[in-house]
Amino acid sequence: MTHLLITRQLGTDLSSLEALATVDVWADRQPPPYEILQQKIPHVDGLLCLLTDRIDQALIHTGRSLKVISQMAVGYDNIDIAAATARGIPVGHTPGVLTNATADLTWALLMAAARRIVEGDRFTRSGQWQTWEPNLLLGADMAGATLGIVGLGRIGQAVARRAQGFEMQILYTGRHRGDPALEQALGVEFVDFDRLLATSDFITIHTPLSPETHHLFSDRQFEQMQSTAVLINTARGAIVDPEALYRALQNHQIAAAAIDVTDPEPISMASPLLELENLIITPHIGSASVQTRQKMAAMAIANLIAGLKGERLPYCVNPEVYA
Ligand code: NAP
Repeated sequence: MTHLLITRQLGTDLSSLEALATVDVWADRQPPPYEILQQKIPHVDGLLCLLTDRIDQALIHTGRSLKVISQMAVGYDNIDIAAATARGIPVGHTPGVLTNATADLTWALLMAAARRIVEGDRFTRSGQWQTWEPNLLLGADMAGATLGIVGLGRIGQAVARRAQGFEMQILYTGRHRGDPALEQALGVEFVDFDRLLATSDFITIHTPLSPETHHLFSDRQFEQMQSTAVLINTARGAIVDPEALYRALQNHQIAAAAIDVTDPEPISMASPLLELENLIITPHIGSASVQTRQKMAAMAIANLIAGLKGERLPYCVNPEVYA
């Protein structure tokens, strides 16, 4: 008998899985504790997991019958990919279907920070709105401003397309320069990281979290940014050093930030970041639209079924397992 574990209720039809296997769905709102995963994994042939599950080397080794790991997310920094590959286990993810939703949320945060929407809402509700004032809650213009994109992948490109509509100058940086035809279509210019930091009015992060990008933004990077600059992070929390971010916002080294991701998640209610007026925080909802989540679930299920049947996963993170 084939056994599947799904680490949360997805709110989607599981009949295609139930036709193939017994399906154990973790029903709590909180993710299964690591110890529960350890207990369950030896009996599991296929795992459908989320970014809140730590799928490390020890867990992968304990999963003696594990044939496939299917993550319902595009990022997979919570999974030890090398350990899965060493055991010949393909890992699936859900690229592409969440690109527009995440770029939309990035844009919503960018606009909210630029035009101080959340501050304005707090101001109004607290009864401080007395009259129209020439200097009330002044923000930044978008047209003509420079946007710096760190990581011009799927989401970075979708953000660049939005920035074109807002008549912005668009810079990007990354490990290497992109295709010139793509640069031309998006109207973007490749620059090194230092120049992007020093000249951008808005900086938005779209790299995966990796040892290379961990704390890519720390004190030195904030010192290079303009005092009017705004940082947006919808990628992964640990790409930004939270203590350095606090210092930069508190000292007005940069003007504002808006983040959908924190380190750790959820953010501690004792975090000093929560006291800052010039920081907007949303609870990791980049892909959280009804249609996008349905597509992500369908893609994760398709990866899981392919893995169970011994077929190539449609969206595989470690295709080396097929070599
Ligand atoms: P993608 O298409 O793989 O794009 C990632 C980009 O980052 C690529 O251009 C990549 O370039 C670049 N990159 C990788 N390592 C880098 C480094 N060390 N320095 C600079 N650039 C680097 O991925 P995507 O679909 O756009 O997603 C990006 C990330 O967004 C995901 O990994 C995920 O963590 C996050 N995300 C968050 C949410 C949310 O809910 N907030 C939703 C979706 C995704 P090369 O590899 O070519 O060098």
